[in-house]
Amino acid sequence: MQPKFCARCGHALEMRQAEDHHVRPVCPACGYVVYLNPPIAVGVIAERADGKIALVLRGENPGKGLWGLPAGFMEIDETVEQAALRECFEETGLTVELRDLWGVWSFNHKEKQTSGVLVLYVARIIGGEPRAGSDSVAVKFVAPDEISDDWLAFSTHREALARWRKQRAASDA
Ligand SMILES: [Zn+2]
Repeated sequence: MQPKFCARCGHALEMRQAEDHHVRPVCPACGYVVYLNPPIAVGVIAERADGKIALVLRGENPGKGLWGLPAGFMEIDETVEQAALRECFEETGLTVELRDLWGVWSFNHKEKQTSGVLVLYVARIIGGEPRAGSDSVAVKFVAPDEISDDWLAFSTHREALARWRKQRAASDA
């Protein structure tokens, strides 16, 4: 969402070509330029010893009533790895150990003028009891071949899990 007022002096912002030639919100009173950058979401494919992974039922929009991987936005005072561990614990009650970086996904909705980045890790569950929390209202464990794309709230999670299923199928063959 575009900011309307200058965070430094409170004057109304205008869309202008900034010095780097991008059109950006600029404050005509004090010259402050607003650089809009995408938020970074971080999540995990949290695997149990039996190969099943944790999905969370979303209690909030976007995607309310649909399932997703435990994931959320990185805070200003943490690293990507810390965000992954925190989000997993908040949404599932599970403690995990990060193994591999599974991938980085991004999207850009031109009409909505938004973009975002999702960083996903594969993680091993090492403790805790499953319980929903934060913006998740249920936790369940599913095997790779049990996951239906229709359940999932986000295309990035669908893509990440499609690749995960393919890799698991290949390693079982
Ligand atoms: Zn200003």
